[in-house]
Amino acid sequence: MSKLPTFSARSYDFVEYVPVKNWIAGEWREPTTGKTIPVENPRFGKAISSVPISGAEDVDRAVKAAERAQKSWRDVPMRERAQVFYRLKQLMERDMDELAWLVTHENGKPIEEARASVEKGIECVEFGAALPNGGGAGEQLEVSRGVLCKEVHEPLGVVAGITPFNFPIMVPLWMMPQAIVGGNAFVLKPSEQVPLGAMKLAELLKEAGLPDGVFNVVNGSVDVVNALCDHPTIRAIGFVGSTKVAKLVYGRGAAAGKAMLCLGGAKNHLIVVPDADPKVSADNIVASFTGCTGQRCMAASVLVAVGNVEHVLGPILEKARKLEPGQHLGPVISAAARERIERYVSEAEKAGAKVVVDGRGKQGGKEGYWTGATIIDGVTPEMGAWQDEIFGPVLSVVRVKTLDEAIELENKHPYGNAAAIYTTSGAVAEYVTHRVEAGMVGVNVGVPVPREPFGFGGWNQSKFGHGNLTGLDGFHFWTRPRKVTMKWEIQSDTTWMG
Ligand code: NAD
Repeated sequence: MSKLPTFSARSYDFVEYVPVKNWIAGEWREPTTGKTIPVENPRFGKAISSVPISGAEDVDRAVKAAERAQKSWRDVPMRERAQVFYRLKQLMERDMDELAWLVTHENGKPIEEARASVEKGIECVEFGAALPNGGGAGEQLEVSRGVLCKEVHEPLGVVAGITPFNFPIMVPLWMMPQAIVGGNAFVLKPSEQVPLGAMKLAELLKEAGLPDGVFNVVNGSVDVVNALCDHPTIRAIGFVGSTKVAKLVYGRGAAAGKAMLCLGGAKNHLIVVPDADPKVSADNIVASFTGCTGQRCMAASVLVAVGNVEHVLGPILEKARKLEPGQHLGPVISAAARERIERYVSEAEKAGAKVVVDGRGKQGGKEGYWTGATIIDGVTPEMGAWQDEIFGPVLSVVRVKTLDEAIELENKHPYGNAAAIYTTSGAVAEYVTHRVEAGMVGVNVGVPVPREPFGFGGWNQSKFGHGNLTGLDGFHFWTRPRKVTMKWEIQSDTTWMG
C-alpha cells in the first residue's frame, strides 16, 4: 500500500505527493483505464501529484467490494459502528497539521482556513459518532392498548457521494459518517482537482478499524459520476457541486430509481439597511466575500444596499483594498477560474457598473492562480455579475430604495442557498428572515452555516432533492425507516408463569 508522505516541512513550500490511486476493499488500486491527469497546487500552478480518470469498470469493482462488506457491516451494532468515528476523530486531531497542510497544498487555501475546514469536518465526525445517543436509536410507542410500534433506521446498502474542489476533507465528511454509522457501505468520488484529502481519510478510517470495503474511493470525472448514477446496486447518492451538474446528476440518478440529494451553487444576497452597525457589518461582509477567496457556496456575492448605507460601504471598501493575495487571500483553484472571475468583472464594467475595488491582475506570488478582492458598484439584474455564480472574491453592490425592493431582488434570484440581513433592529431582522427565499439565513452573520446538529442545505436551484445533507436529515437520507408493529399476549394456559 502506498503511503502519503508525512511532512517534516509543513509550510507553503512546493511539495510533491505520491500518485493518487483508487481505494477499493482496503487497498490502493490502479484504474483499469490506465488514464491519469495532474493534480496541481494552485499557489504554483504546478503538478504535485496525478489522479486516476477511472471508468465504469472501476466503479463496478468498488461497488462489488462495498456490497460484500456491507453484508456484515449492517449486522454490527450501531454503537460499535459509531466507535470507528470516535477513533477517527482522535486520529484526525492527532494528524491535524498534516491534514490541514494537505488541504492547503491541493486546494491553495491559507493554512488557517484549511485548519478551520478540517475542524468543521471533525464536527461532522462527532455528530456521526453520537448518532446512537441522539436520533439514531429509533422510536417506540404504544399505539393502541398492548400494541407497540417501533421505528428503526435500516441501512440502504451501498451508497455514494460526489464532492467538489472547495473543501477536500470537510464535504466528504458531511456525508460519510452518517451513512456509514447508519450501516451502509460508501463509495466516494472526490473532485479530481483535490483528490488527496480523501486518500488520507481512507487511510485514517482503516487505522480507526473500519472493515475493508465499507469505505471506497473511485477517482475520476464525468464517467465515474455517470457510472455511479447508473449502477443498479447503489441506492442513494449525495452530491455537492455546481447547480448545472447537481441538476444533471439528480436527474440521472433519480431516473435510475435512487434517492438523490444534490446541493448546488449559490448567489448569496446580503441586505444592508441604514441602521446597520458599520464596524460589525463591514468586518463581517468583507470576511464573507473574501474568505476562501470567495470559493464557498456560503460566500457573500451580492450586497443589496438599502437607501443610504455609505457609513457601512466606506469601511468595506477601505478594508477590501488592504487585502493582498498571497498574504490575506489564497489563490483560486485554476487558471480557468481566474479567467472566469475577472471576465465577469470586466463585463459588468463594460455594461456601466463601477469597479470600486479592483483585484484584477493582482498576483500573490510569482506563479499560481491569483486574483484580488473586487467590489463592483451599480450592478443591475441585467448583468452576469448579478445573475451567475462567480465563485471568486467579488462583491456586486446593487442599490435599492426600500427593504421590500431588497427582498424582492433576493427572491427573484433562482438560487436560494444563503442570505443575510445587517441591522441593529430585531424587527427588521425578523421581517427579512421570514421573507427571503433562502434555506440558510444570517442576522449580522455573513456565512450563516447552520453547524451541527442543524442540517446544511439551501432552497430552490441551490438544491435538488428533499431535506438537508448534514444533521439528522442526513442520517435519514442515508437510511430507511422500518416500522414494526407488535402485540404480545400471555397465553391463558401458561401455568408455569404464575
Ligand atoms: P462541479 O459541479 O464542477 O464538480 C462537482 C463534482 O461533479 C466533481 O466531483 C466533478 O468531478 C463532478 N462533475 C463535474 N462536471 C460533471 C459533469 N458534467 N457530469 C458529472 N459530474 C461532473 O463543482 P466544483 O467546481 O468542484 O465546486 C464548486 C461548486 O460547488 C460551486 O458551484 C459551489 O457553489 C458548489 N458548492 C456547493 C455547496 C453547497 O453546499 N451547496 C458546497 C460546496 C460547493
